[in-house]
Amino acid sequence: PHEAALEALQYVDVDRLLPVPGAESDKYRRGVVGVVAGSARYPGAAVLAVAGALRGGAGAVRYVGPAADAVIARFPEALVSDGPPAKAGRVQAWVAGPGLGDDAGRLRDVVAADVPVLIDADGLRLVDRDAVRGRAAPTLLTPHAGEAAALLGVSRAEVEGARLDSVRELAGRYAATVLLKGSTTLVASPGGGRAVRVNPTGTAWLATAGSGDVLSGLAGSLLAAGLEARDAGAVGAFLHGLAARLAAEGAPVGAQDVADAVPLAWRDVR
Ligand code: AMP
Ligand code: MG
Repeated sequence: PHEAALEALQYVDVDRLLPVPGAESDKYRRGVVGVVAGSARYPGAAVLAVAGALRGGAGAVRYVGPAADAVIARFPEALVSDGPPAKAGRVQAWVAGPGLGDDAGRLRDVVAADVPVLIDADGLRLVDRDAVRGRAAPTLLTPHAGEAAALLGVSRAEVEGARLDSVRELAGRYAATVLLKGSTTLVASPGGGRAVRVNPTGTAWLATAGSGDVLSGLAGSLLAAGLEARDAGAVGAFLHGLAARLAAEGAPVGAQDVADAVPLAWRDVR
């Protein structure tokens, strides 16, 4: 069959995929996430991406960029630097793009790295398609409909009217795993032979500023822990939706509340 089916992860699937540390674990085995995000204009995006990565179970988070003071003020456990990503120290997966502004240089360094990379937000605007296609390690792109439309050169309405085709098309063009955010979040693999994942846990309370930045960090922590890109994307979206539901209980939530509720979502799954 050439047309891959749709599939939704169930609680049991997510439980099986969660990277629970064992006696042999140390912070490196649990996964070090590098975060290239934030700018003078959008320091909060860096904080939220770091929050998602820490609450997602990263062994450590290295933040690289100009928002280090804001990151440290909220997360003293973060490791921070403001030089090139390659000099930041050991990193098992990079998250690049939230609030990044026009820092194309750091994005390029991360795309050139030989570890899994998640690219979101401003990173999607800056990224070079051939550089992504040429990567040996996995790439996970996480656009919302507007960002997907820009990548495909079509209108947002066209993406919204053909979400499944759009996510598959992007996965093919970028030779990357693509997570298309929205009221239903879809995860497509490159190659087209595998089922497209549909996330069942979303809630419209997630339609709030910064929630996508939290998802980036969260899915990045799962990449750093060694999950395949499609699993990291689908499990990340699952926990993110569940966290929003648990934090909100039917009431408004902020992005930071969603990040803080990720451990509740883990507990609910296990
Ligand atoms: P972003 O657009 O990057 O801020 O990310 C927004 C996040 O909220 C993504 O995880 C979306 O899937 C989620 N989201 C946005 N709108 C809705 C909705 N109406 N229902 C469920 N989830 C949504
Ligand atoms: Mg976003």
